[in-house]
Amino acid sequence: MAGFSEMVPLAPQTTIGLGGPARFFAEAGSDLELRDALQAARSQDLTVQILGGGSNTVFADAGYPGLVLHIALRGITFVSDGDAVLATAAAGEDWDAFVALCLQQGLQGLECLSGIPGSVGATPIQNVGAYGQEISQTLVSLRALDRERLEEVLFASADCGFAYRDSRFKGEDAGRYVITEVTYRLQKNARPTLHYPELAREAQARGVADAPPKKALQETRQAVIALRRGKSMVYDPLDANSHSVGSFFLNPVLDDAAYRMLRERLRVRFPDNPPEPPSFPADGGRKIPAAWLIERAGFVRGLRRGGAGISLNHTLALVNYGGTTSELLELAEEIESGVERAFGVRLRPEPVIVPGG
Ligand SMILES: Cc1cc2nc3c(=O)[nH]c(=O)nc-3n(C[C@H](O)[C@H](O)[C@H](O)COP(=O)(O)OP(=O)(O)OC[C@H]3O[C@@H](n4cnc5c(N)ncnc54)[C@H](O)[C@@H]3O)c2cc1C
Repeated sequence: MAGFSEMVPLAPQTTIGLGGPARFFAEAGSDLELRDALQAARSQDLTVQILGGGSNTVFADAGYPGLVLHIALRGITFVSDGDAVLATAAAGEDWDAFVALCLQQGLQGLECLSGIPGSVGATPIQNVGAYGQEISQTLVSLRALDRERLEEVLFASADCGFAYRDSRFKGEDAGRYVITEVTYRLQKNARPTLHYPELAREAQARGVADAPPKKALQETRQAVIALRRGKSMVYDPLDANSHSVGSFFLNPVLDDAAYRMLRERLRVRFPDNPPEPPSFPADGGRKIPAAWLIERAGFVRGLRRGGAGISLNHTLALVNYGGTTSELLELAEEIESGVERAFGVRLRPEPVIVPGG
C-alpha cells in the first residue's frame, strides 16, 4: 500500500525484542500523516496498532496482521504560568530526554520519573509512575485524535480517569484515541519529591538536602537513575536483564475479603512464622507488592523457562533472553497460576499484549 512499508520486523521496535513482522508499518511525523495513515488503513479494512517507544508492548510471534503506526510527532514548548511553567511535548518526543530538559530548566514535578523508557504520548495510557510520582500529579491536559471520527479532542486531567497504572485510555477507551500532545504543569524553584524511602536515602547520600533547588533536582535525577540501573530498570542494549517491559505484573489492590484470605493462606503456607504482607492504601483497597507475592509463591530471580526468565535484578521483570513471545507468556501464566494457587490472588499483566494474526 502506498506509503506503508511491508513485513517490517517488530522485535527491534520494542525493548523486550519480541514479535514477528508487521504486515504494514508507517510513521506519522505530522498530524496530516497521522490522519492520512488512519484513513488509508480504514479504506483497506486494516486494524491499526499505535506504537510509541515499544517499551510496554509485547507483539506476537506471528507478528501483526494490520498496520503498526509509529507516532513520531515532535516539538516541545514552555510557557510561564505564575510560579509554574506549562511544559507541552508532542507525543513522539522521547520521555526521558523531555524529563532531562525540564530538570535542566529547573522545573520540578517529573524528577522521580527519570530513566523510564518510551514516548511522551504513552505516559497517560497507564499513568506512568515511579518512586512516589505519577504523571497524573502534573498532567494538566492532553490532545488526542479520535480514531473513528478523525476529530481532535482536548482532555482535562480530571477527564482522563487516572488511577494506579491505569486511565480511560487503557480501560474503556483503549485504542480509541491517538494522543498527540501532553501538557504538564511544573513548578519553578521547588524542591524534589523525596517521599520514597529508598530514593530519599540515595538523594541524602548525594547531598540533595543542602543543594539549591535546581541542583537538588538534577542530583535527584541521578539518584533515580542509579537506583534504576541497579535493578536493570533503565533500558540498555548491553544489559540483558533490561530487555523487558519493566514490571510485567501490576501490584494487586485487594478488598478486605481478599486481604483476609491472603493472610489466611500465608498462615497455612508458613505455619511456624507467617509473614505479614506489606500493604499500602490505594484505589479504595490495599495494594500489595506483586514481587512479594511472587517470591513467597516460590518464584526466584534468575528462574529460566527456555529463552524467557525472571530478571536477576528485579522479581517483577520478565526478560527475553533470546526466546519467543510464547515462552514469555507461558512463564507469565505459570507465575499467575502459581500465585493464585498459593494466595487466591490473580496477578494481572501490566504491558499491552498485542494479538497476532
Ligand atoms: C526497563 C523498563 C523500565 C520501565 N519502568 C517503568 C516505570 O518505572 N514506571 C512505569 O509506569 N512504566 C515503566 N516501564 C513501562 C514503559 O516504559 C511505560 O509504560 C512507557 O510509558 C511506555 O511508552 P512507550 O512509548 O514505549 O509505549 P509503547 O510500548 O509504544 O505503547 C504502550 C501502549 O500505549 C499505546 N500508545 C503509545 N503511544 C500512544 C499514543 N501517542 N497515543 C495513543 N496510544 C499510544 C500503545 O498503543 C500501547 O497500547 C518500563 C519499561 C522498561 C522497558
